[in-house]
Amino acid sequence: MRAFAYLRADGADPAARDGSVAGTRFLAGGTTMLDLMKCGVERPARMVDIGHLDGLDGIEVDAGTVRIGALARMSRVADHPDIRRAAPALAESLSQAASPQVRNMATVAGNVLQRTRCAYFRDASGNARCNKRLPGSGCAAIDGIHRNHAILGTSDACIATYPGDLAVALVAFDATVRIEGPRARTVRVEDFLRMPGDRPDIEHDLVPGELVTAIEVPVSVPLRRSRYLKVRDRASYEFAAASAAVGVELSPDGGTIWEARVALGGVATRPWRARAVEAALRGQPFDEAVIRRASALAVAGARPLAQNAHKTILAPRVVARALLDMEARP
Ligand code: FAD
Ligand code: SF4
Repeated sequence: MRAFAYLRADGADPAARDGSVAGTRFLAGGTTMLDLMKCGVERPARMVDIGHLDGLDGIEVDAGTVRIGALARMSRVADHPDIRRAAPALAESLSQAASPQVRNMATVAGNVLQRTRCAYFRDASGNARCNKRLPGSGCAAIDGIHRNHAILGTSDACIATYPGDLAVALVAFDATVRIEGPRARTVRVEDFLRMPGDRPDIEHDLVPGELVTAIEVPVSVPLRRSRYLKVRDRASYEFAAASAAVGVELSPDGGTIWEARVALGGVATRPWRARAVEAALRGQPFDEAVIRRASALAVAGARPLAQNAHKTILAPRVVARALLDMEARP
C-alpha cells in the first residue's frame, strides 16, 4: 500500500490552492481515481477531496442555458425532469454509462475527466509499453490487441478510445466547462479534451490547482430534439463500441432537416464532432437514403488497424439509426 495525504477542502478557493501543490490530485466521486490508484497507475502524494463542496452540484435550466454543477452526481442529472425535457441526449448518455452504483457516486466533471485509457495503460506491472503511462515507452496496443481502440484522432503514440459518454453529448451541443483557479476561464468541451499527438499523457486543458466548477450547454431546438444511442458488447455496464449523440431541427411539416448536430463516441481518441455529416444533412429532406449517405461521412479520415476496421462500418450505422429514430420523437 502507498501512503498519501488526504485533505478535505472547505471551499472551491482553498481546494484550488491545495490542488496546486505538486503531486496533488482532486477526488470527486473517486470511482475512477481510486480504481487507477489500486492498480498502481495513479500514485498521488496528496488527495484533495472536493466531493462534498457546497454550491457545486446545482442543476438549472432556463430559456438560454442548461447549467450543471461539476459535482452533480450522474444519476441525479440523468433523472432530472428538466434535463430529460430540455436535453434528452445528455440524460440518455448518463443513464447508459457505467452502473447504477457508479452513477450514484460519480460526478459529471469526474466523468468528463476520466482518463482515456486501455488495458495496457492499466497494467502497471512493467510488462506493457504505454506512452500514456510512461511517456516515450511505446504503445503495446498498436501491434497488440486493439479491437476496441480508436479509428479517429489517433497518433503513432496512442490509439486509446475516449471512454466517456456524457462528453460526446456535450460536444455535439457546443457545451463549455467553467474552470476556476489561476487562469479562470470558460472552454468549449471540444477544445478542453485533447487528441494524443505525441503527448498522450496530456489529455485536457487543466493545470494543477484548476477546478472545473460547472458545465454549461446552450439551449437549442436540436438539443431539445436529441438522443444518445450507444452500441456495446453487452447490454449494460460496458463502454461504447460506437455511440452517437444527435439532434435535429426539422421544418414544421417534418420533411426537411433545418439543423443537425452529430458527435461520435467509442471510436475516437476524444469525443468526435462529425461536422461533415451535419453539413451534408442541413437543408436536405428527412429521408433514409439522404441520412445514410450523410452518415457515411462520420468516419472520414479514419485510420483503422487490423482488428478495429469493423468500426468504420458500425459508426455510420449507429449515426444513421440515431437520426432515423428522431422522426418518432416529438
Ligand atoms: P473521480 O474518480 O473522483 O475523478 C476522476 C478524475 O477527474 C480525477 O483525475 C480527478 O482528479 C478529476 N476531477 C474530478 N472532478 C474534478 C473537478 N471538478 N475539477 C478538476 N478535476 C476533477 N463512464 C462512462 O461514461 N461510460 C461507461 O460506460 C462507463 N463504465 C464504467 C465502468 C466501470 C467498471 C467503472 C469503474 C467506470 C465506468 N465509467 C464509465 C467511468 C465512470 O463514469 C467514472 O469513473 C466517473 O464518472 C468518474 O467520476 P468521479 O466523480 O468518480 O471522478
Ligand atoms: Fe497506452 Fe495509448 Fe497505447 Fe493504450 S493505446 S497502450 S493507452 S499509449
